Amino acid sequence: MPETLFRDAATYLRPEDVAQLESAYRFSALAHEGQFRKTGDPYVSHPVAVAKILTQWHLDPQALIAALLHDVMEDTTVTKAEIAERFGRMVAELVDGVSKLDRIEFESHEQAQAENFRKMVLAMTRDVRVILIKLADRLHNMRTLDAMQAKKRARIARETLDIYAPIANRLGLNALYQELQELSFRHLYPVRYRVLHKALLAARGNRREVVDRILDAIRNKLAGSHIEAVVTGREKNLFSIYSKMQDKHLSFSQVFDIYGFRVVVRDVPACYLALGALHGLYKPIPGKFKDYIAIAKANGYQSLHTTLFGPFGMPLEVQIRTQEMHKIAEAGVASHWLYKQSDTELNDLQQKTHQWLQSLIEMQSQSGSSIEFLEHLKVDLFPDEVYVFTPKGLILSLPRGSTCVDFAYAVHTDIGNRCVAAKINQELVPLRTELKNGDRIEIITAAHAKPNPAWLNYVVTGKARSHIRHFLKTMQYEESSQLGERLLNQAIAALQPTAETIEDSAWDKLLRDVGSATREEVFADIGLGKQLAIVVARRLLTLGEGDGNSNRLPGSVMIRGSEGMALQYARCCNPIPGDPIIGYVKKGQGLVVHTHDCPIVRKMRGDPDKWLDVEWATDGKKLFAVNLRLVVSNELGTLARVAAEIADADSNVDNLSIEPGDSSAYSNMLFTLQVHNRLHLAQIMRGLRRIPAVIRVTRLKG
Ligand code: MN
Repeated sequence: MPETLFRDAATYLRPEDVAQLESAYRFSALAHEGQFRKTGDPYVSHPVAVAKILTQWHLDPQALIAALLHDVMEDTTVTKAEIAERFGRMVAELVDGVSKLDRIEFESHEQAQAENFRKMVLAMTRDVRVILIKLADRLHNMRTLDAMQAKKRARIARETLDIYAPIANRLGLNALYQELQELSFRHLYPVRYRVLHKALLAARGNRREVVDRILDAIRNKLAGSHIEAVVTGREKNLFSIYSKMQDKHLSFSQVFDIYGFRVVVRDVPACYLALGALHGLYKPIPGKFKDYIAIAKANGYQSLHTTLFGPFGMPLEVQIRTQEMHKIAEAGVASHWLYKQSDTELNDLQQKTHQWLQSLIEMQSQSGSSIEFLEHLKVDLFPDEVYVFTPKGLILSLPRGSTCVDFAYAVHTDIGNRCVAAKINQELVPLRTELKNGDRIEIITAAHAKPNPAWLNYVVTGKARSHIRHFLKTMQYEESSQLGERLLNQAIAALQPTAETIEDSAWDKLLRDVGSATREEVFADIGLGKQLAIVVARRLLTLGEGDGNSNRLPGSVMIRGSEGMALQYARCCNPIPGDPIIGYVKKGQGLVVHTHDCPIVRKMRGDPDKWLDVEWATDGKKLFAVNLRLVVSNELGTLARVAAEIADADSNVDNLSIEPGDSSAYSNMLFTLQVHNRLHLAQIMRGLRRIPAVIRVTRLKG
């Protein structure tokens, strides 16, 4: 059984390569020892048959060895490392690639999903040889499908028809494509297949010689008209006849073109001359003529199609085309599919692949080999996309570099807005994790979760980006508006403590004056610092009945720590509850809170309009960041003691850096801690000072 493989390989490989192949066979036979196929054959007969199919395509030794080993990683205890050691890294990569394809399972039967799945399969294989091994594997499994149970047979046939046959077609592997289709059809619809097969046999009868006679008649006619042409005949396969019946709701007798003839001529005028000559030979069937030369098909296909009444009423489909059109029809499929229509620039690698695929197709008809093309040929068939599964088995295509957050937004905006964590292939991962082909992703959401501005640093899809931006903007608007309302009420109360409410008429006038549509807009402007609360308050009071005599400054605004983005804590001094604070209204950004003793505040005192008195409200659930510097003597375990002390005091370390001190005996530790308030901080600092190795503790401001 393996002998014929070695013999076939020897027709185009060097003896030492064939020897390698023999060694791979022994390795595989040993690994699969004791395993049998459903057909009853020893398991190793399958990889041998797969490798044999690949010799028909003149694949290189590495691919043949990989074919012999393609099932050992999945079905035996052999590891990738062992294969790499015995047969080289490249062979190991090929086997690994095939095994990875075996592991992904196609679940959905929707058309669009099948297309995505095909792309996923191709995107997962950076080396075309992996696909070719997989296709040969599938072909052999289809050829021996009879041994399987009916249910499994139908599933495999369906998958072959939906996924693998189209891949073969697009790679231009025409004979393989036809055989896969035919076998799938036979197993998927055994009864229909049998009926059609019989009908075809009956229609064909013993008319082989009739076909030959037609061929002769066509050749003579064209020669008589001085048209140089190559004429060939072909029989349509059962599946394409069946598809035609299905698509156009025809009965078998209505499907004309059981027999096809192809006429290849030198140039375009000759195509039309040949057409005229053939219409003179047999009568054309009205309405069946199509001029795909004048109007090419979307994929670039060009030809003249006509159907003629042949002898004995046999319908004959004839395609007429030039040599050039013929090449595109045969090989163009691959080229058009590999690159997006708009992509005119092919990179070097793609160009090489393209050439190689074409040479592969030529190789099938002629002999000769192009092993040099195969050496280390890596391709990225879909360099811009990544294909991943949803938990329900649907496939999404996303741009390369997409993260879990992009995925969440691709599934649904709500899922994006509420996502808090993600699992890839059952494992918890950070949201920023980049997705890989074939990943299965699950997004974990929480009802009250919100988009994080930090996501904008790593999302790549426009959808995610725009939804995050939109959400943040709305949120900021709402928060600003709430803060603005409080600022305004405070200002009004300070100006005129007796005024209970501002009259609606005053509001209406104000809105007209400032050109805002709603009060919320005015509040948001105040919150964002575009308008000063005190100015708006004065205007509202003068517009209403109040006399607006007062020039007193407003009282303090209470800061609760829950204002969100409308309020910022200055980074220079990091104020925490308990610190004396002051607010600065910054145009477009809202209120920025500083400590009284912040050096920045001293510098900007000259702008009194913009400063607001603010005070801490008492609740204090929120945590605030504060920076500490510790000078410590360099003793073993000091950091651990410091960290333990901080944890004991119920605080978290946000950030930590250690710098060498003034002498080698000391170091500076810089901490960013989270504290509730000044009291909390004082308690932590006291605790730290009790550690003997700690020399000094200072809070850093500015
Ligand atoms: Mn297999």
